[in-house]
Amino acid sequence: MASPRIIVVGGGITGLAAAHQLTALLPGAGIVVIERDPRLGGKILTERADGFLIEGGPDSFLATKPRGVGLCRELGIGDQLVGTNQATRGAFVFRKGALHPLPEGLTGLVPTRLGPMVRSRLFSPLGKARMALDFTLPARQDDSDETLAAFVSRRLGTEVYERLVEPLMAGIYAGDGRALSLAATFPQLRDAERRHGGLIRGVLAARRGAPASPTPLAGGAKPSPFLTPSGGLGALVDALIAHLTTAGVRIATGRAVTSIAPDANGGHLLIFGDGERLVADAVILATPAHATAALLVDWHPAVAATLRAIPHVSTATISLAYPVRDVPRPLAGHGYVIPRVENRPALACTWTSAKWHGRAPDGVALLRVFVGRAGQEDPLSRSDDALVELARTEIRDTLGIVAPPTLRRVHRWPLGMPQYTLGHLDRVAAIETALRAHPGLVVAGHSYRGVGIPDCIRSGEAAAEVVARISAPENDPGILRG
Ligand SMILES: Cc1cc2nc3c(=O)[nH]c(=O)nc-3n(C[C@H](O)[C@H](O)[C@H](O)COP(=O)(O)OP(=O)(O)OC[C@H]3O[C@@H](n4cnc5c(N)ncnc54)[C@H](O)[C@@H]3O)c2cc1C
Repeated sequence: MASPRIIVVGGGITGLAAAHQLTALLPGAGIVVIERDPRLGGKILTERADGFLIEGGPDSFLATKPRGVGLCRELGIGDQLVGTNQATRGAFVFRKGALHPLPEGLTGLVPTRLGPMVRSRLFSPLGKARMALDFTLPARQDDSDETLAAFVSRRLGTEVYERLVEPLMAGIYAGDGRALSLAATFPQLRDAERRHGGLIRGVLAARRGAPASPTPLAGGAKPSPFLTPSGGLGALVDALIAHLTTAGVRIATGRAVTSIAPDANGGHLLIFGDGERLVADAVILATPAHATAALLVDWHPAVAATLRAIPHVSTATISLAYPVRDVPRPLAGHGYVIPRVENRPALACTWTSAKWHGRAPDGVALLRVFVGRAGQEDPLSRSDDALVELARTEIRDTLGIVAPPTLRRVHRWPLGMPQYTLGHLDRVAAIETALRAHPGLVVAGHSYRGVGIPDCIRSGEAAAEVVARISAPENDPGILRG
């Protein structure tokens, strides 16, 4: 390989979005994407076989964050976006052996309608009364960060935190709310309290001020908070690959970068596992923080140590299919979440074939069980067969399904979920500040400022913008011109 000018390390959604943005900002530049795995997409992994569409990782992105929808439109697949099945809307919370409907009127994680909360059997009368105190409790004046658990328990009470907010949060972060930073995970909740004196009042005010759903769907379908291409998220990856290939970006899969060092001429030297070396003018490290730490440890041990201080949790998803006749209860909803306090090995189960159209052949139910969360990663040490048995036990206990599944798929995500624990934003700022001393070396991805797909896209694009800025003629140190 001749030395290219800009190398993106990591071919997940962050790296692909970064390369896509580079093609727009620096059309003449030589751009290379290097990916360790034989396939691109990272956590996005869509399998299509025998009438099934199975997502091993994410299944959709938030419609309200602009860069998911925006990128799909730019790639010409905006009209393929579909929302969740509105006919089966709703989800459940597992508590003491029963599934309780999620109360209507949730805005994000926060209940904003008192009627459904009062009627819900998920909470005790005392828990409901404690939640209502949010309307009278004064706002905290102190500016320091606190954990998600501390904040929600302070505003709405421990019961609402443990039985509602915690399992919903775990569905996003697989985290432990007693360790997660509120400022890094849900800053809007902190703002709501500060600005309006109470959490529920503040969330309602923010909702009133939010624009109406920005994403009209094909065929006039009802707007949905979650969107995905009808062919699964793999279609987004495929569209990016097609665009990058057409734009002349070189993509190398099955190639792991093992370290990075400064090059004598002011560039960056990338060293591969097989000893090959490449020099780049600019490098975007779109790898998870723990992988990025390994690349930088020799050159920049202090930055590597800060990168390693961002914890990552291992998770897995287990997809199982059954003839509908083997499912004793109707799957009237999108699935259920399991609070940590229930002490079960799984944290959620999505009823995939009810949540999305076209995921399983007619007459077949497709379910997906999630395992692995902060402090509960032990299931991941088990074999695939053992994980399937774990998932079967979960849905036998909860849904009464005893028949053997007709399809089983296990997808493992070792260290796949970053944890934005207290101090996270300071760690990210320290990493970014230290790297500013090395123009052309930028980090991006889910470990830093948002785990959701739209945030990762934005992060990749922002990294591309930094690289493009230093290549502007007035700033050009000469390294990005031919
Ligand atoms: C089970 C699961 C469900 C999720 N559900 C959702 C959801 O529904 N909606 C949502 O918005 N988000 C969801 N997420 C989060 C989201 O999928 C991820 O945060 C996002 O895909 C991460 O993208 P990334 O490109 O930053 O990282 P990755 O996808 O991890 O990509 C990084 C890439 O870098 C490569 N790499 C690592 N080291 C090297 C090296 N040394 N050399 C070369 N390449 C290297 C890796 O192989 C990988 O391909 C989910 C995540 C998981 C695990």
